[in-house]
Amino acid sequence: MTITLTKTDYILYRECPQNVWYKIHRPDIYSESELSEFEKSIMETGNEVELIARKLFPGGVLIERRDEEGQKVTQDYIAKHQEILFQPVFVGGNLLAAIDVLKFNPESGGYFVYEIKSTSDVDNKTHYHDLAFQVNLLRKHGLQIDKAYIIHLNSEYVRTNDLDIQNLFKIVDVTSEVESLTTEVSNESQGALEYLSQETKPNGYCCCVYKGRSKHCSTFQHSNPEVPEYSVHDIARIGNSKAKLKELIDNNIFHLDKIPSHIKLTDIQQGQVDTYILNKVLVEKEKIKAEFDALTFPLYFLDYETFPAAIPRFDGFSPYHQIPFQYSVDVLKSPESKPEHYEFLHVASDDPSKSFAESLQKHLGTTGSIIVWHKGFECGRNDEIAIRIPEMKSFMDSLKGRVYDLEDIFRKQYHIHRDFRGGTSIKRILPVLVPELSYKELEIRDGGSAADTWNKIVSGGFNDAQKEKSINDLKIYCGLDTYAMYSIWQALHKTL
Ligand code: SF4
Repeated sequence: MTITLTKTDYILYRECPQNVWYKIHRPDIYSESELSEFEKSIMETGNEVELIARKLFPGGVLIERRDEEGQKVTQDYIAKHQEILFQPVFVGGNLLAAIDVLKFNPESGGYFVYEIKSTSDVDNKTHYHDLAFQVNLLRKHGLQIDKAYIIHLNSEYVRTNDLDIQNLFKIVDVTSEVESLTTEVSNESQGALEYLSQETKPNGYCCCVYKGRSKHCSTFQHSNPEVPEYSVHDIARIGNSKAKLKELIDNNIFHLDKIPSHIKLTDIQQGQVDTYILNKVLVEKEKIKAEFDALTFPLYFLDYETFPAAIPRFDGFSPYHQIPFQYSVDVLKSPESKPEHYEFLHVASDDPSKSFAESLQKHLGTTGSIIVWHKGFECGRNDEIAIRIPEMKSFMDSLKGRVYDLEDIFRKQYHIHRDFRGGTSIKRILPVLVPELSYKELEIRDGGSAADTWNKIVSGGFNDAQKEKSINDLKIYCGLDTYAMYSIWQALHKTL
């Protein structure tokens, strides 16, 4: 089978040949798991950034099609020496790429090639190879390439008034880095074409068998059928202990109960393995009690939802600063009382930061512990609001000493259950400790999906009925986050 290697597949191939083989030959397996909202939003962000970056090149002509017609139109414009082309398509030697920006240099008769990235920096593991692939292909078409550039977001840019496109981006000349890779990339592309043309599935484990579970893609189980669903890959932070994991895998040890005693695990890892093998729950009551005794009532179970806008939308924001658009809080006045629920959700298209902070001040008062899950997130947002809204700084700063991270109970392994599988996320803990509560039936089930929904609400992506339903879905989702925290606290509290 002869295939055409696209630039995208070449970059994916460099990360994992097997996964691209599945993408081409077994798309049914490759697409078994849907793209997460996070992955979808990365793609949408890339498109948004590219559209705005094109404004750096007034007068550019967009080639909309990628098929033979698109290739023909490209060649027509090249023959006419059109100054700036967006997405011209080139095919040659079974390679295919669309170029983000191709600019004719009338002085030399050559071209400048630009790759637009939605990142805040140059990634030297992929961006140079990406451009080298394009440069090789353009040269096959007889084009002289004078310079190669990466355009990426400038993380130091802070918006004031209208977007300043010139300062929003950095244009980095990477010609020498790219030139030094063209031969290597040419050879690698040929290797990729041969590998990906194989009709039969590549043999053996895929290389992620030596990595922790979080690194496995959707085809891992197909490439490694002998690895059980709960395996040594699920041991907490085992991906950081490469030698240990390698020794286990090289000796065909996949099950937690087969780990030999000479493999030294950390206390946390050993705790996870022991609870699995003994099938018992480990609860350090005294330690949990000491943590809970240090809390001050009322307890405020608090959770934020935010949207990371690549292109800053409001004054004071930089690329990827999080817009805090929603919170939910459940207030518990005493251990025996019922929690009172309060919430904030901003659905207008202006900056929510000020009203978010003012509403928080109304609901959080001045005393009482604020319980969150993974406190770095909420505390980071508080610090950013304090900078953007100076009049709220003293209140936002005052929250620091009141925040308590409930995840710490599980991170410190004061409570271990085999069904946590070494995880400490609220979605891992809740079904075990409070099985009657679940995210499964909700329309919105994770923060990425919440952020995407809010973005559609405020940018006109919904009709009125959809908007109303989405607002309700957001409230239910964020409300469950805080009620889940309260319920986990209560489940632990009852055992003390
Ligand atoms: S799990 Fe296997 S197929 Fe998937 S990315 Fe890792 S090495 Fe590739």
